Amino acid sequence: MIDTHIHADARSGEDLEMMYLSGIDSAITCSYYPYKIPDEIVLLNHLNRILEFDTKRAKEYGLDLKVALGIHPTNSNINPKTIFENLYRWIETDKIVAIGEIGLEDLTDNEIDIFKKQLDIADETDSKVIIHTPRKNKREVLKVILDILPQHLNENQAVIDHINPQVVGDVINTDCMLGLTVQPQKMDRFEAISILDEYGFDRFLLNSDMSNKPSNPLSVPETVRELTRQSYEKNEIRKVAGNNAEKFFKI
Ligand SMILES: [Zn+2]
Repeated sequence: MIDTHIHADARSGEDLEMMYLSGIDSAITCSYYPYKIPDEIVLLNHLNRILEFDTKRAKEYGLDLKVALGIHPTNSNINPKTIFENLYRWIETDKIVAIGEIGLEDLTDNEIDIFKKQLDIADETDSKVIIHTPRKNKREVLKVILDILPQHLNENQAVIDHINPQVVGDVINTDCMLGLTVQPQKMDRFEAISILDEYGFDRFLLNSDMSNKPSNPLSVPETVRELTRQSYEKNEIRKVAGNNAEKFFKI
């Protein structure tokens, strides 16, 4: 099983171990610095820690941690030049499987500039992107994302994440992959299953987004087991349990 969006840096080794023991082989950890950022060097340290330290830490518990790095929209108050230079280097040396998570939160000019630039880097380097959508004003922000995205990058290189039953209709006709985040205060596994039931399993990735916010490290295996209990086809379940992510991220 693959959990396609976590923040390993914010969680304990016990969580990583519990995930591994519950059938998760691999997870994609994304960048998000949850504190005030004084400058880009602090963010660079954060990204290097994910890359060099958290991957090793996860491995000790059995978990194969893949990495997505970039500038999270809430971390946009920095000079992005150094991070962009490093992004090119990480992509070139196959250190990361995607640029992420990127996206928009409050729709500030800074956020929009940095978002567009990261989409351009993905286009130039033929990379995948993981795009965050916010808890607040999700539909409004999603509309702006869907307007900007195709002007900079092929939709089939993007995951739009944290999709819920309220907005799934807005993205289902795009070419993007769609992330279903099963997390307390966001969406429960039954709501995620209702989306899969209605729209099929081909376009969706499951994740827990486990972070410093209330999270359930086992939300992916719990959703997969619930699908099994409800007798969905094994082939279909395998798609959201990992096969779609393997194909999309080439992992
Ligand atoms: Zn996240």
